[in-house]
Formats: sequence, structure tokens, C-alpha cells
Amino acid sequence: MEIIDNPRDMQSLAASWQAQGIRTVLVPTMGYFHQGHLSLMEYGREVGSRLIVSLFVNPLQFGPNEDYQRYPRDLIRDAGMAEEVGVDILYTPRAKHLYPPGYQTYVTVDSLSQGLCGAFRPGHFRGVATVVLKLFNQTRPQVAIFGEKDYQQLVIIKRLVADLDLPITIIGRPIVRELDGLAMSSRNAYLSPPERSSALCLYRSLLAARELVAAGERSRQAILDTVQQIIAATPYTRLDYAELVDPETLEKVQVLRGAARLMLAVWVGSTRLIDNTLLKET
Ligand code: AMP
Repeated sequence: MEIIDNPRDMQSLAASWQAQGIRTVLVPTMGYFHQGHLSLMEYGREVGSRLIVSLFVNPLQFGPNEDYQRYPRDLIRDAGMAEEVGVDILYTPRAKHLYPPGYQTYVTVDSLSQGLCGAFRPGHFRGVATVVLKLFNQTRPQVAIFGEKDYQQLVIIKRLVADLDLPITIIGRPIVRELDGLAMSSRNAYLSPPERSSALCLYRSLLAARELVAAGERSRQAILDTVQQIIAATPYTRLDYAELVDPETLEKVQVLRGAARLMLAVWVGSTRLIDNTLLKET
């Protein structure tokens, strides 16, 4: 595995692979790898002949009072894990190279970015869309892989690729969970032991919603009431939102017909966690 940190070196290598018709896969990440990241890399290894993993904690997608500074970082550990999975290139650009003085171009995926996390994290998806387009231009992948853990992000990136005619296939992969159901996240490292127990309320409320639907419940209000009660009864937590949305448009769903996505963002202590699941009529 090679580590490349210079965007120009990355771009010229990617261009030469493209000229040779080599099928390149990109897995964009912010590092501090866990099994969720590794599952995307393992899948990428299967579907392409060159696998690039980008590792960049993107300042543009963090708000002024968010955790950019304290976001966990461990390049040596990450490089070891990536190498083990068979990553070809670990691409680790620096903020000063991606956003040099004078930088002023941003990508906005309009209405999809406004609700859910977008409403609580202004500018977040503008930062995500901008960096992802830059990473695409630097690595020239045929395929890019994202986790359903960040479901709104996945929908936004699919829209970006369709709207800007990018010749890239976007693949979404399932959420990888700890044994007890907590969705894996680099931010789980922030949780104290009692907060770690409380964090289970996200998964428990997704399961409760699935059970309601299996028992015939279709009403948005009934489903969200149950979720809100579970979160409210859990210590250290505060709900940002619980929403039932259309899996493609992310528009609110009043009555479940076919399928909908249940989306959750919950503060546990000073850590903001997100999770989601597909709810389906059977
Ligand atoms: P991050 O480093 O948190 O920005 O995540 C990088 C990629 O890994 C994104 O596409 C995430 O959706 C994905 N990811 C993060 N956590 C998980 C997980 N638990 N299961 C599956 N994919 C994940």
C-alpha cells in the first residue's frame, strides 16, 4: 500500500490508471477506522482492480462549535488496518492543499441538504458535497462506496452525481453494528461507559419501530411517538430529530406505504449520534 498526500500526485496516478482503463474504486472516509469502514473497503476490493481510500477530516463540513479539533485521528493504526484489507492507495490530503488561500468554490445539493441533519448542522452537506466532488476529481473512480449509516449523505451524493453527469457509480452499503446493535462510528470513542449504555436507545428505538410496523402500524405519528418515548426515557440523551422519510426524496411520510426510512439523530452527553433503518410493509 502506498500513502499519497499530495493532490497532484494522486491526480496524475489516477489519470494514468484511467488512461489504461483500470477500474478504480474510491472509499471516502474521515479515518479512525472501525469495521464499518473496513466493510466498505472489503466490498471495494471485490468490485474494482484498484482501491483508493481517502482519509481526510474535512474542516468544511464541521460547524464552528462542532468537534473538528477533537475528532479522533490515528494515521498509523488506520494505515495498518487499510493495508490488511488490501487497499492500494491511502490518500491523505491536507486541508491547506484542498482549500488553499483564495479558495471560493462550493457545491450545494439544494433541498435534500435542508432537512434532517442539514437543519441542525447548517453548511454540513455543502462541505460534504464540495469535498466529495474534489476527491472524485482527484481520484477519478468508476465506483465510489458510501455507508447507509450516513443515509442523507448517501442520497445527496447520488443526486450530485446524477445532476452533474459524473461517470461514477455510487454504491450504498449496510450499516455495520456492534454486537449489541450500536451502529459503529468513530464518534463512539467519545462515549463514557454510562453514555455507551444510553447510546443503545437509538438501536432499541429502531427495533421498536420495526416491531410496530410488523404488527401493522402505518402511522408516522404512532411510530415517531414510540421512538421519542424511548429516547426521552434514556438518561444523558436529547433528541435532535426522529423522522420518517421517503428513501429517495427524503420527504416526510405521513403514512407508511411500501417503504420508508426512519432517521434519528440523538445527543448522548456531548456526542451526537445518528442511525437509521428501512421500514417496510410486509
Ligand atoms: P466517516 O469516516 O465517518 O466519514 O465514514 C466514512 C464512510 O464510512 C461513510 O460512507 C460512512 O457512511 C461509512 N460508515 C461509517 N460508519 C459506518 C457503519 N457503522 N457501517 C457502514 N458504513 C459506515
